[in-house]
Amino acid sequence: MNAVELEETEKGGGAAAAAAAAVTLEELRKKMTDFARERDWEQYHSPRNLLLALVGEVGELSEIFQWKGEVPKGLPGWEERETEHLGEELADVLLYLVRLSDMCGVDLGKAALRKIELNARKYPAGPGCRPSKKGANCSDDAHDSHDYRGDVVTATRADETKQEHC
Ligand SMILES: [Mg+2]
Repeated sequence: MNAVELEETEKGGGAAAAAAAAVTLEELRKKMTDFARERDWEQYHSPRNLLLALVGEVGELSEIFQWKGEVPKGLPGWEERETEHLGEELADVLLYLVRLSDMCGVDLGKAALRKIELNARKYPAGPGCRPSKKGANCSDDAHDSHDYRGDVVTATRADETKQEHC
């Protein structure tokens, strides 16, 4: 549950807000399966088609931010209809990602947790760790292959060089 959802729930935002806050990836996966089956769209949901649809939705999401310059957290000054549109495009991206994962036989939740764990090992938390334009890099000895700006200085492991971005 994120901060906004938590606030809505605490305000007594109603059953809909509480249900939305509790949604799981498995629930979304099942809803997408039913949605496709009821419309006989399973024939179109090949991994490639779903990937292209996902990329298209990322484009629609990008259009919302296009030409706005840097946007502060919380989107101050945005109109309600803009925020609602943003939610719709974020949802499109998530739903296609869930469907694509399902059609590829990937457990998305499990894969995401594993990736967070891998990232945590690669970038241990600590005072020397901060985000950079190339991703989070740390100044400790375990990560001396990057300088403090995130630029690669030396490559200690081939896979670290390839996976510069999380
Ligand atoms: Mg869309």
